[in-house]
Amino acid sequence: MSSNISPYEVAIKQLEKAASILKLDQQTIEILKRPQKIIIVNIPVKMDDGTIKVFTGYRVQHNNFRGPYKGGIRYHPEVNLDEVIALAMWMTWKCAVVDIPFGGGKGGIVCPAKYLSQAEKERLTRKFVDMIAEEIGPEIDIPAPDVYTDAQTMAWIFDEYSRIKGYPAYGVVTGKPIELGGSKGRTQATGYGVAICTREAAKIYNIDLKEARIAIQGFGNVAYYAAEKLYQFGCKIIAVSDSQGGIYDPDGLDPIDVMKYKQKTGTVVGYKNIKKISNEALLISDCDILIPAAIENQITGINADKIKAKIIVEGANGPTTPEADEILFKKGVMVVPDILANSGGVTVSYFEWVQNMQKYQWEEEEVLRKMEEKLVKAFYEVFKISKQYGIDMRTAAMVLAVKRVIDAMNLRGIG
Ligand code: NAD
Repeated sequence: MSSNISPYEVAIKQLEKAASILKLDQQTIEILKRPQKIIIVNIPVKMDDGTIKVFTGYRVQHNNFRGPYKGGIRYHPEVNLDEVIALAMWMTWKCAVVDIPFGGGKGGIVCPAKYLSQAEKERLTRKFVDMIAEEIGPEIDIPAPDVYTDAQTMAWIFDEYSRIKGYPAYGVVTGKPIELGGSKGRTQATGYGVAICTREAAKIYNIDLKEARIAIQGFGNVAYYAAEKLYQFGCKIIAVSDSQGGIYDPDGLDPIDVMKYKQKTGTVVGYKNIKKISNEALLISDCDILIPAAIENQITGINADKIKAKIIVEGANGPTTPEADEILFKKGVMVVPDILANSGGVTVSYFEWVQNMQKYQWEEEEVLRKMEEKLVKAFYEVFKISKQYGIDMRTAAMVLAVKRVIDAMNLRGIG
């Protein structure tokens, strides 16, 4: 159920909608539409077989009015500049919605990540850092993991950058291993944040969590921890899925047990012979709350009208197209947007950076409590704006974020 609209087109449409509510002039919109800086490098890497291949890498720095650029680096054959710009822009809004003092950035390297050996991936990463070392830094631009990059990749970035600078610069990346200054609670943060937003949205709709039936698309990091927390809250997790399909049990699934099965078999499909469901059918299944937590462009103009959930909480980035947003808003479905719903991850990344700056490590309980406080506050700020203007939650989140960014810009001055 995909759509051909490009991520950058989606990002611009969302910005323009918020800009019209804020009555922004065209010049201000121009500033926000364009990234402040785009860095493109061509990285020669010696492969294991002795040949040399050249990979193109991007770092897009969208906006730093509120603080250093922040955002992941993905390794994927389909990375393209248009997408990286959109992702960088969303990071600007995401950091502003939860009110953390970062701007937005994103990076990517066009490469067959799945097929690189660890040694090739390490050489590629270190070379990339060598080429962009002057453009990143704890007070400049702070990368993080994304698709096909992980804590190990961040450890290499930290090491290479520190080697170049001559001191251990822990704050240059987040998502590091705990042993190298990573934060406790980071692994669960995004999923738990999704669950917290789900809980707050349910309160607004007077849905008792103990009776709530929740369908989740995906069963990776975000989906699993959201499911685990919601299960703790007493919800019925009636469906989960992965790229091979999904399982559906109206009596509810135990996510911890399903995960044990997935770890053994590589998929949720086949778990206890529970009824199979396709990813398409899962989205329109009979549930109270739907959590798309896999990939983008899943809820589109084609299926939005068939959605039965009263609340959609976006664990994934960009799972709902602008066309679907309009249909859902007219139907009275609340969509808790990605920039709010999945911001638990970047919030704990910010806490990781704070701990690195403090040279002190917080306990997991403190990290997650502080994350929850930030998310609940942001949730109600967004909800209040949505009521004030009679707009959907995504536009409200954008209004809040864009306003915070332009307030910072106006106070600093354009120069
Ligand atoms: P992950 O790789 O751990 O999990 C992805 C899940 O999606 C897997 O279960 C996979 O099987 C499933 N999937 C892949 N293709 C699918 C398809 N065609 N149909 C249905 N399911 C499919 O990734 P993740 O970290 O859980 O990220 C999921 C989403 O959340 C992504 O959009 C990511 O950008 C976003 N996100 C993640 C974080 C984080 O901290 N991990 C933070 C913010 C946003």
